[in-house]
Amino acid sequence: MKIHEYQAKQLFREAGVPVPRGIVAHSLDDVTQAFQQLGGALAVVKSQIHAGGRGKGTFKEQPEQRGVVLVKSADEAHENAGRMMGNTLVTIQTGEEGKQVNTLFVEEGLEIARELYLGIVIDRESSCPVLIMSTEGGMEIEEVAEHSPEKIIREYFDVALGLLPYQARKMAFALGMEGKTVRSAEKFLTKVCQFFIDNDCSMTEINPLIVTGDGELVALDAKVTFDDNALFRHKNLEPFRDLSEEEPAEVKAQDAGLSYVKLDGNIGCLVNGAGLAMSTMDLIKLHGGEPANFLDVGGGATVDAVTEAFRIILADENVKAVLVNIFGGIMKCDVIVEALLTAYDKVGFHVPLVVRLEGTNVEKAREMLAASGKDIITAENLTDAAKKVVGTLQG
Ligand code: ADP
Ligand code: MG
Repeated sequence: MKIHEYQAKQLFREAGVPVPRGIVAHSLDDVTQAFQQLGGALAVVKSQIHAGGRGKGTFKEQPEQRGVVLVKSADEAHENAGRMMGNTLVTIQTGEEGKQVNTLFVEEGLEIARELYLGIVIDRESSCPVLIMSTEGGMEIEEVAEHSPEKIIREYFDVALGLLPYQARKMAFALGMEGKTVRSAEKFLTKVCQFFIDNDCSMTEINPLIVTGDGELVALDAKVTFDDNALFRHKNLEPFRDLSEEEPAEVKAQDAGLSYVKLDGNIGCLVNGAGLAMSTMDLIKLHGGEPANFLDVGGGATVDAVTEAFRIILADENVKAVLVNIFGGIMKCDVIVEALLTAYDKVGFHVPLVVRLEGTNVEKAREMLAASGKDIITAENLTDAAKKVVGTLQG
């Protein structure tokens, strides 16, 4: 789950990670008031969407307007907000369709002495979180990684211990910090790493992390993603979810207990088991097709879940054929076929359907399919299934 910058900064503040003072705004009047309330000569008006690159992004309706702007008066704040609120911001991360801005965040403008990069992710190879920093703040880290990888430094830390003070100091020295700033960094880095652990984050990114004129570290930007599989133990994060930012079909699938990821192709896939879903997608590609989605109905798929899965797949207008690939292990094939036939009647099919079944009770399941009299193409094995489903599109 992703959250907005203003929400991430609220959590940062509660965790003792320094952030600028800021006020969230849902209307243009809120923006004017926020500027006055902050009371400074300089403020920043920031579009709140689940994507980065806002500072360089522009609006479809207002090509001159940027997604993050520095303003020097309440009027200027109001004028800029008028060109942002309700409009569609296109950034390097949104894709060309962009994202509608419904919320703005007004923040005090800080004096920037240095801009750094900070990211924390899970490193799968070492099975632990890694703190990644660079002197190239404000730049895309992918770009730094490609052109000057030597400028990226890493520090792995233990989830039970957190980032240890010596590790934080090592990082600070490697970034060329001195005196008071090293002490500020020690506090900042240990706290932000603890935040990552405590909230089961899959990513925390601060770009830029700044050193102020007073030599203090402050998070100027905040991008946080939580591990969905751990959300059940963070009920406090529930209100932060913004469904308008998520793919509607993925939200529906989640509610039905399905793992669904929408993709760009035209072959809908319904599979049990994530590994099988991956290999199904691979084989479709191998035989010249493009999957429209990843969908794992799970080991204990019920008639209701399978029906919902078909609904979601068929609601995607890109889908021109569907491949069902089931391996009956604990789940019996005949149970799946029963669900499939019920779903077939309930949802109605307007595209070719290829079914491959293997495993427990497969004979009985195949008989049920044959006896159903429905227009279903059966396949002998996975390769056969992939070829057949790709073939339906070429005919
Ligand atoms: P994005 O990464 O989506 O472009 P940022 O929050 O990083 O958005 O903001 C873009 C740029 O705006 C930053 O790199 C920084 O230079 C400037 N900026 C953002 N917030 C502030 C602030 N509170 N004070 C001063 N400058 C800011
Ligand atoms: Mg940024």
